[in-house]
Amino acid sequence: MYPRTKVSRTTMARKRHVDPLTPRERSERMSRIRSTDTKPEMAVRRLVYGMGYRYRLHDSGLPGNPDMVFRSRKKVIFVHGCFWHQHGCGHYKQPQTKRDFWYPKLAKNRARDIKVQRDLHKLGWESIVIWECEIKNLDVLRDRLINFLGPE
Ligand SMILES: [Zn+2]
Repeated sequence: MYPRTKVSRTTMARKRHVDPLTPRERSERMSRIRSTDTKPEMAVRRLVYGMGYRYRLHDSGLPGNPDMVFRSRKKVIFVHGCFWHQHGCGHYKQPQTKRDFWYPKLAKNRARDIKVQRDLHKLGWESIVIWECEIKNLDVLRDRLINFLGPE
């Protein structure tokens, strides 16, 4: 009994070091955990759904894995947190500590966002970003969504 336990422990320890996902898959999975079902995104989803539009969520077949996909219209919506995507709206505070850590990270997010929009455009998709701070004024946001998505 004792040796058997020993063997299985060793096996478990070995398993723990082997990631079944490739680094790319791992990073994709991690970014999903961070970004899926955040509060601003839920608010926008509720609004858009209530307006009568139907969409798919997180279509990973498209650049940037957009939050909401309107296939028949070839349009996508991203819901972005003002801090993570550096909106510059004053809705958040710039980090005062660990700047060496934050600035490259946030700059990378910005650069990625720009590239994603460009890639989508090349594929014939239109995209908009709904910012976290826009959720404060749903009437204005509703108009913006209708302008973008077209008649229901
Ligand atoms: Zn903002």
